[in-house]
Amino acid sequence: MNKKPEATKALLRTLPSVEKVLTSSALGPLLHRYNRSYVAEKIRSTLTDFRQKMLIGSCSTEIAEATIIQKVEEAIANEDRSSLRSAVNATGTVLHTNLGRALLAKAAVDEIVRVATTPVTLEYDLAEAGRGDRDDIVEADLLALTGAEAVTVVNNNAAAVLLALNTLAEGKEGIVSRGELVEIGGSFRIPDVMRKSGVLLREVGTTNRTRITDYAAAITPQTGVLLKVHPSNYRIIGFSSAVELRELVELGRAQQIPIIEDLGAGALIDLSIYGLPKEPVVAERVATGADVITFSGDKLLGGPQAGLIVGRKEFVERIKKNPLKRVLRPGKLTMAALSATLRLYRRAPDLAAELPTLRWLTRSRTEMDAIATQALPLLQACLGEGYSFTVEDSPAQIGSGTLPEEELPSRIIAIRHAQLSAERIAARFRASDPPILGRIHDGAFLLDLRGIFTSEELIPKT
Ligand SMILES: *Cc1c(COP(=O)(O)O)cnc(C)c1O
Repeated sequence: MNKKPEATKALLRTLPSVEKVLTSSALGPLLHRYNRSYVAEKIRSTLTDFRQKMLIGSCSTEIAEATIIQKVEEAIANEDRSSLRSAVNATGTVLHTNLGRALLAKAAVDEIVRVATTPVTLEYDLAEAGRGDRDDIVEADLLALTGAEAVTVVNNNAAAVLLALNTLAEGKEGIVSRGELVEIGGSFRIPDVMRKSGVLLREVGTTNRTRITDYAAAITPQTGVLLKVHPSNYRIIGFSSAVELRELVELGRAQQIPIIEDLGAGALIDLSIYGLPKEPVVAERVATGADVITFSGDKLLGGPQAGLIVGRKEFVERIKKNPLKRVLRPGKLTMAALSATLRLYRRAPDLAAELPTLRWLTRSRTEMDAIATQALPLLQACLGEGYSFTVEDSPAQIGSGTLPEEELPSRIIAIRHAQLSAERIAARFRASDPPILGRIHDGAFLLDLRGIFTSEELIPKT
């Protein structure tokens, strides 16, 4: 301490106390919006910053109180920006797991707000004036959309798989093809989930080929379930064969062993009517005879994060009675959003106009090109010298492990710079508020236009 030069000591003494800043009239507006101890904490850390700068000599003049207050405001504004920030998804991956997957339809958002702000009959049966069941909220629509006998909902598809396996086959064996022992992003691994559900994994076949006789040979009195997993994020191509659900159903029926199918994305409608690649449709799998089918609410369905379980009544009833169901049940906001989304599927005159996921997936080239045409001069003006832009064809992806080898033709703006690397360009867009996320390919920074609805979104802002 006493080694400090007199000048520094004098400078440090010019800093006001926390109390003095707190009582400054200029602080009034902040104290109106935030509580006193929070503001005091921010003043203290701001003063500490200035003290440090003075000590190391990077600040050698007296700091005006207005400057201190400005820094406090900035610090608060920084924290105010939720750590869950809005971002611009120009990555070319529509259902981007790291960016929160599906965007909700307006009808679903409105329902969330309504249900969040008023008491609702979540588990209240008005006719009986007694306890109801929250699955009833979505039951009629899900039955109509899938043709199943019964439904139940949990927090995500991973939970749905765990719960279905645990209910149907705890302490027994579950037979799965080696070609379907997949890992989905975010460390969902079928073998691990099976272990945690208390089901013993019985692998059959090989990575590339599994036959119905492999399943048949593995059945013993210990067998509790036949599990079929939609491999979602990869395909085995070349010399390969997988057992069709139909064959598995025949075997299961003959041996009285239930079949669970983890569909992953699970489309409620046939996407090929929109010219999109065909993903398994839940209703078709129900019709084929799977006893229990699980799929996600926030993948192709375009709703909130949820795990949907549909199937035969006897099995779904058992699943609903499993104490784990209570542990994994979704909250009212999820049920509200899911129910509104399912209603759109049944009633909307033009689903693609109302469901953002479908709207992204079905964007026309003309629409994307119009955005590019508007964005180019704005980008040029904003980024400055040295940048060059081209609008090109590029494949986008559905994402969330859906149809990985099927590409959606999309349009991109490729940005290059004479001196700057693509990584540097990407960093500049990432630093924007909101951050603009694209991807890097072949030395260029790419902004995919499939998920962009106004040219403004693509212009970096600070
Ligand atoms: C995505 C996926 C899961 C996990 O679903 P979440 O809703 O993310 O929990 C499980 N199985 C398959 C086949 C998937 O594609």
